[in-house]
Amino acid sequence: MTTKVAIVTGAARGIGLAAAKRFQADGWNVVLLDIDAETLATAQATLPADRTLALTCDVSEPAQVAAGVAATVERFGRIDAVVNNAGIAVFKPLLDTGYEEWSRVLAVNLNGPFLMVQATARIMAETGGGAVVNIGSISGLRASTLRVAYGTSKAALMQLTKQQATELGEIGVRVNLVAPGPVDTAMAKQVHTPAIRADYHDAIPLNRYGLEEEIAEAVFFLCSDRASFITGQTLAVDGGFDAAGIGLP
Ligand code: NAD
Repeated sequence: MTTKVAIVTGAARGIGLAAAKRFQADGWNVVLLDIDAETLATAQATLPADRTLALTCDVSEPAQVAAGVAATVERFGRIDAVVNNAGIAVFKPLLDTGYEEWSRVLAVNLNGPFLMVQATARIMAETGGGAVVNIGSISGLRASTLRVAYGTSKAALMQLTKQQATELGEIGVRVNLVAPGPVDTAMAKQVHTPAIRADYHDAIPLNRYGLEEEIAEAVFFLCSDRASFITGQTLAVDGGFDAAGIGLP
């Protein structure tokens, strides 16, 4: 049987690393792309060497994306899934958000998935198609304070997901978005103040943060053949946050 190949961006830690492990648990080969070489090397050491390729890559840089995709094909010969997980968060009031911060958040969170899909879609099509999961956020579903750059990038990513799904269906590439609720990763530790944590606790019917593995499970499902007729969708994995509709400040 053919061994499938997934590329996961931002895979050195957090949700991306959990996703990489989930694919490998099902026998896939995985390519981890991340801008942080040191953390990536630490992650790589925990994964099976024969089924792992780890490459330093800034997903907002077209040449680095092209090099990462070329190295993937050289090592494993095919691509079956792409998880656009690399992301950064700046939580600041609108009037305090600098243009460079705004631009960088959009470059990583939105341009990255655009570039990755352009670079991989035809390669997936050559072997019969594939699946893309873009990692959005509940911050892209609803507006709240402090998230002008982050929330806008994730909302735009939902539309990019629909555009990608609409154009790539005919070559057999499905594209969906997973919108996680809060997960206690390094990113959350950086931007979730005690007040933000309390707000989420109150607004989430399950009254807790999600686990990296709970997000990874949804990502893997959408990339698997079990999701073969699902494309262009947003799946919130959020403990009921969106359904309950309880507002954040
Ligand atoms: P994290 O900061 O732990 O991991 C993100 C990874 O992306 C890091 O390893 C980082 O080095 C990498 N990265 C950053 N910029 C990059 C770039 N330009 N090119 C390549 N790699 C880059 O964060 P996380 O919480 O695991 O977040 C993963 C994804 O989940 C992000 O897209 C984030 O927006 C989304 N998300 C997270 C939460 C949460 O509460 N943690 C909630 C909703 C959505």
